[in-house]
Amino acid sequence: MCLELQSIYKKFKKFSIMDFNLKLQRGEIMGLVGTSGSGKTTIASILLRLLNPDSGNFYINRKNVYDLKRREFSRIVQGIFQNPARALNPRKRISFLLKEPFLVHGNFPSDREISSLLSALSLPREVMEAYPTQLSGGQLQRVAIARAISLNPSYLIADEPTSALDPTVQIQIIDLLLKLNREKNIGLLFISHDLNQVFYISQKVAVLSEGIILEMGNTEEILSSPHPYTDFLMKGTATTLSEVKGACPFYGTCPYAKEICERKLPPLKKIGKNHLVRCHIM
Ligand code: SF4
Repeated sequence: MCLELQSIYKKFKKFSIMDFNLKLQRGEIMGLVGTSGSGKTTIASILLRLLNPDSGNFYINRKNVYDLKRREFSRIVQGIFQNPARALNPRKRISFLLKEPFLVHGNFPSDREISSLLSALSLPREVMEAYPTQLSGGQLQRVAIARAISLNPSYLIADEPTSALDPTVQIQIIDLLLKLNREKNIGLLFISHDLNQVFYISQKVAVLSEGIILEMGNTEEILSSPHPYTDFLMKGTATTLSEVKGACPFYGTCPYAKEICERKLPPLKKIGKNHLVRCHIM
């Protein structure tokens, strides 16, 4: 089973997603990394059908996603977001919030189903009686993940799922996502601005800048020979991105920039077995 975006374009006033391609197999973990404003959330919104692209294709198992009914689609693809509190009705108890996804799809969950969700998410049974405002950020994110996996989706789109959490809780949530990927064979797109987290969790990584993929490939291949922009992100150096239309977005800061980099956006080319880069000097 494979989720695939092909040649996605989406234009906004100030920036565009350009020729975005992605392939995520079931059971695989892919990281999508970029600074704020790089287009990560636009990609997440397209993948969750919260936003339609201007052009391009979106397939799951070679079927056009836009031919699927929303309810059918939401059984296959689910999202996890930065701020779980926003997605949870503060006036409902956790017991109801855990049952809600089943009810929306016309099922009534058994006690066993709810217990197995609680134990998969390492949530104590006592949370069932609580309201969202009584839980910690980490517990809320676990409840949100429990809701997302309750209907056994094949894919999870996790958009900055750890950004609002304390560092120790971030690691717990990442380990939880790894466990769910392993045990339930879920395909996970882990979207983050945190390069370390992305490299830790992902088998494949895509690096996005100004709506353009600059690098994509196996984590090891990227780490052994990173694109100049990825290298800068890894060193935590501040970057100024080019506003010159048609240029490489990294032109303004890149120490290797040549005259052609200002004139021409490099094409995405293969430089390793599973490694694509957009750079004139690689
Ligand atoms: Fe640097 Fe040019 Fe490569 Fe862009 S294309 S990363 S500016 S060398």
